[in-house]
Amino acid sequence: MKKLLLLLVFTFSIFSTHSQDFEYLKVKPKAGDGILNLLYRYELPSDQASIDLFYQINGNKFDKNNNLLKGFKYNLPVAIFSFNNKNIRSSIGISDYNIAKEIENYNKKLLEKKLIRKSFKKSKKLFVPLHLLSSSNEASKIAKKEFKKESEKAKANVYPIFGKKYEKVDIIDSSLSGCVYYLISGHGGPDPGAIGYHNGVELHEDEYAYDVTLRLARNLLQMAATVYIIVQDENDGIRDDKYLNNSSNEKLINGEEIASQQAARLKQRTDIVNELYEKHKEKAKLQQVLEIHIDSRSNSKRIDIFFYYAPNSSEGHSLAKSLHQTINKKYKKAQPGRQYHGTVSERNLFTLRETKAVACYIELGNIRNPQDQIRFLEVNNRQAIANWLSAGLLEYFQNEAMP
Ligand SMILES: [Zn+2]
Repeated sequence: MKKLLLLLVFTFSIFSTHSQDFEYLKVKPKAGDGILNLLYRYELPSDQASIDLFYQINGNKFDKNNNLLKGFKYNLPVAIFSFNNKNIRSSIGISDYNIAKEIENYNKKLLEKKLIRKSFKKSKKLFVPLHLLSSSNEASKIAKKEFKKESEKAKANVYPIFGKKYEKVDIIDSSLSGCVYYLISGHGGPDPGAIGYHNGVELHEDEYAYDVTLRLARNLLQMAATVYIIVQDENDGIRDDKYLNNSSNEKLINGEEIASQQAARLKQRTDIVNELYEKHKEKAKLQQVLEIHIDSRSNSKRIDIFFYYAPNSSEGHSLAKSLHQTINKKYKKAQPGRQYHGTVSERNLFTLRETKAVACYIELGNIRNPQDQIRFLEVNNRQAIANWLSAGLLEYFQNEAMP
């Protein structure tokens, strides 16, 4: 049965190429909700197979006892298709009239229970529970073929968040196995962060910080670390362009929108990190938070990559120092004669103070200074920064944290 449901999950990637992209219905559980009452509320079967499917389509968003995590949004085994104004069958690519009728009834029920606001004819959003398609012949036939493709993809370490060119990640060695990293790129969503200009092009801090963050994440995955990219933009991936397009559609790893108010925005991030921290507490060899920013100073001021850690945190201090020393060494090698003036200092910042994992805040330069700008406008430089930071993290783990 589990296998059958697996097939069903992948059925949808075919429909999406035939008709249009679909999304899973995403819901945020109420306080006290478990998987069973969530499924029950949404009129879905709650047998073992459905529970297995629920786990499958929600990745690793569970605590160590496989319970739901507070504040996270979850995919329900219900696909949302656009309604084509003709009929249900042609909207989703099936021919069975009875199944179409059941799907129609399902949508009526959701409306009656006020779980959705408008009928599918008005909203053009058709809610299709996966279990209703299990008897659909044409679906399972195509699914078999697709399942093979999809399962190969999963086995091959493909991470679509890195974009087409970089989505495949080869594990090079297992030197960071058991280490958990929370990577936060500064700002995002409604907040672009600092803004600079280069040849008339507007540069947003959040885009460049995100690109370096993704590159760092990929490096750490190559060393078998567990990595959480807290702020995500599913459209961007790792970009090899000099100028990165500005967007405001970044979301959080749990599917939530980024809050528009600053205090709420910071708390969202630390809440996620702290929730996951508890989940990994028993088994992780080390848990660290890296937050990446680009500063804004007056145009003429150059600043080297520098680091903050939480007041009185000796672990934070040694993490920051370790990264700082690595950068210093790398600069000496890459640009002999260049002086590196990056600093390491305490700062009472919300993320540093409130995360349970040891945290380090990294500022990559001055977004308004023409020379500093080269550090994050050149693709090779963004990659080099990521490489240096991952080398520093590895060094820290091997020297300071290895049992
Ligand atoms: Zn910033």
